[in-house]
Amino acid sequence: MKDCNQCGKCCIKYADGGLSATLEEIKMWELFQPHIYKYVRNGSIWNDPDTGKQLTHCPFLEKTPTQNNAPHQEKYTCSIYLDRPEDCRHYPTSISEMVRDECEMIEVIDLKDPKRAQIKLDALMSDSRPPNR
Ligand code: SF4
Ligand code: SF4
Repeated sequence: MKDCNQCGKCCIKYADGGLSATLEEIKMWELFQPHIYKYVRNGSIWNDPDTGKQLTHCPFLEKTPTQNNAPHQEKYTCSIYLDRPEDCRHYPTSISEMVRDECEMIEVIDLKDPKRAQIKLDALMSDSRPPNR
């Protein structure tokens, strides 16, 4: 199991209507982070502030310049990293999810022993998940 290499696949895949935010998160954004809250519509994220339509990409996903512009080396960052929804914080949750999403943290050795890989993943993600998870 490798560290996240910021390939951006998860953000690109799930921001198209596949993410949710808790009522508490939305309330906090409404009170303190209007630049985030403006992308919330009827409790769903992320929506066009003007039309209210579901966006096909996350407005907070930013591509970082690569040294030689090689497409396979593209890296992404989250401009609201410290305030991102729990849904984003908790990814990835399982080996099967990572395989399905082609998450680049996965290594060949993980595929050979998914149970062991899940233990490694859980340890790696322990700081990002709720204590009872
Ligand atoms: S809020 Fe941040 S972590 Fe979540 S999808 Fe957008 S860029 Fe990715
Ligand atoms: S798909 Fe995996 S490696 Fe790529 S950004 Fe998401 S967590 Fe990181």
